[in-house]
Amino acid sequence: KKEEVPILSKKEQKRARRLFPEPLLNFKELRSKYKISSRLAENVADQGFTVPTEVQLGSLPLLLGETSEPDLLVVAPTGSGKTLSFLIPVINKIVRHHHSNPDEHGILSLVVAPTRELASQIVNEGRKLVAGTGVKITLMRKGMRVGDDGNANVLDENNEESSGSEDEDAENKPAKERANIPVTKSDILVTTPLMLVNALSANRTTTLATLPLVRSLVMDEADVLLDPLFREQTLDIWKACSHPDLRVGLWSATMGSNIEDLTKSTIKERLEDLGQKPSE
Ligand code: ADP
Ligand code: MG
Repeated sequence: KKEEVPILSKKEQKRARRLFPEPLLNFKELRSKYKISSRLAENVADQGFTVPTEVQLGSLPLLLGETSEPDLLVVAPTGSGKTLSFLIPVINKIVRHHHSNPDEHGILSLVVAPTRELASQIVNEGRKLVAGTGVKITLMRKGMRVGDDGNANVLDENNEESSGSEDEDAENKPAKERANIPVTKSDILVTTPLMLVNALSANRTTTLATLPLVRSLVMDEADVLLDPLFREQTLDIWKACSHPDLRVGLWSATMGSNIEDLTKSTIKERLEDLGQKPSE
């Protein structure tokens, strides 16, 4: 006689698969299984990486899965490929967004990093991935303006003519002149906390401008962004992202107490907002 072994209900199984999806076995699955934009998949393939790193095989299925995108805290060692892990889902989400909302233009994704050098590296990696997708990625510079309509008044980083040495020229021009350089709309803005806070507080005395269209907020080196040096600016930026569907990703090489405290309180608040018990 067969003994009945209790198993998870259908609903519980679904939830478990969402929380613990299958790892990404190779980069081809990005297209075959997760149906990311074909051009983005090609650009990833062009990087020539053979297999995903641990952080990539774990986080990409979570961020690209069919069920609603989670807020995520990812801790993985330096050099393990976190940049690609957050850029692929961000870019793919924007490609989809452009399809379904062709008339909504503005900053849809914000990537915050503690230093200019780091921000610049992220933009360089991002440029390779956005090629041909119609997605624009921009490095925040001094003198750029960000308006309440969600549009950054920025240089066209994707315009071949304005790249390279001319970028350097732009850097050396006084702020007033730089602000007059022809502008374009950007989808992904990569910035340090200070540069963005300055732009958001331009012409204002008390309140910061908002970034109402941002759906993805990426905090790279989140442990550093949340240490006392940057914490206030970082949280101001988070608050400025006012869209109800905002998703936040915290990426870090170390799990400091500053991160733990913040994520615990944030997750608790969010669950309470949703009317759920903060036990999950
Ligand atoms: P982290 O942000 O985790 O410190 P990076 O994103 O800067 O790491 O990546 C470190 C290096 O590893 C980069 O040169 C990147 O191009 C490379 N890299 C990323 N993913 C892979 C992969 N799957 N296989 C081999 N190298 C990779
Ligand atoms: Mg990194």
